[in-house]
Amino acid sequence: MNAKNRLLMQNLVSTAFVPFVRARNLFSGEAGCKVLAYHRIARVSEGDDRNCIAVSPEAFHMQMQYLHERGYRTISLSRLMESVIGGPEAPILPPLAVLITFDDGFADLLSTALPILQEFRFTASVFVIADRMGTDPTRFLDLSGMESLRQAGWEFGSHSLSHADLTLLDPMGAAREICQSKIELENRLGTDIEAFAYPFGRSTPALEQAVSEAGYRVAFGTNPGVVHSADNPYRIRRIEINAADTPITFARKWTGCYNWTVPYRRAKRTARRLLGAAP
Ligand SMILES: [Zn+2]
Repeated sequence: MNAKNRLLMQNLVSTAFVPFVRARNLFSGEAGCKVLAYHRIARVSEGDDRNCIAVSPEAFHMQMQYLHERGYRTISLSRLMESVIGGPEAPILPPLAVLITFDDGFADLLSTALPILQEFRFTASVFVIADRMGTDPTRFLDLSGMESLRQAGWEFGSHSLSHADLTLLDPMGAAREICQSKIELENRLGTDIEAFAYPFGRSTPALEQAVSEAGYRVAFGTNPGVVHSADNPYRIRRIEINAADTPITFARKWTGCYNWTVPYRRAKRTARRLLGAAP
């Protein structure tokens, strides 16, 4: 199934979930924090292969307005970490809390995302690809851009060294991406890097273990859902938003109508493994 058909199928199935999710949210509420995952906020031409990860400034503004009007307020990465890893003594996350994250460290976060977020008094966090930081200032954030974001209250995490799919690397290669990116970012930014985002959102229990051993306190994937303080800190859920999202699909993703994709993906992986193991 190609990407367009997959998206169409996901949207159709999610429509069927709308009444159930509405009923559930009505009775049990939506306790817990949600984390949004973005990449670029930019206007890119049709056909650009980076198109799907670039949300237009207009759409992003509308999405932030949606959250703001419903009373949501952003929390910092540190605040979320404190709650997820702090055990029973940890401070409870405030109601209507959202953490906004951006993967890859694109330069348009400073020029485009920051002013929109500031309009709503929101902050965010960036997961940086260590080897790309500052390489091409027209595409990726450099040190001075990161400093400006930090002064605006943003925080940083690692998104590996080279953005390789860690699930395809041998354990040594994966450990290098995980450890070396932490060391390089800490040296360049002069701050502790305690959060990791898996490239392509792909992780395995072995990678989660490697991330923990490298000294990170939390790690994020792209399985949608709500974050609770008892969750596995090395598999924190995020709701991924991309260029194809309309106001309707954004609202459905936000309210949980796409959460079925998590057991679906898991079942697909298991089926593939079983079929692959069959003679
Ligand atoms: Zn990425």
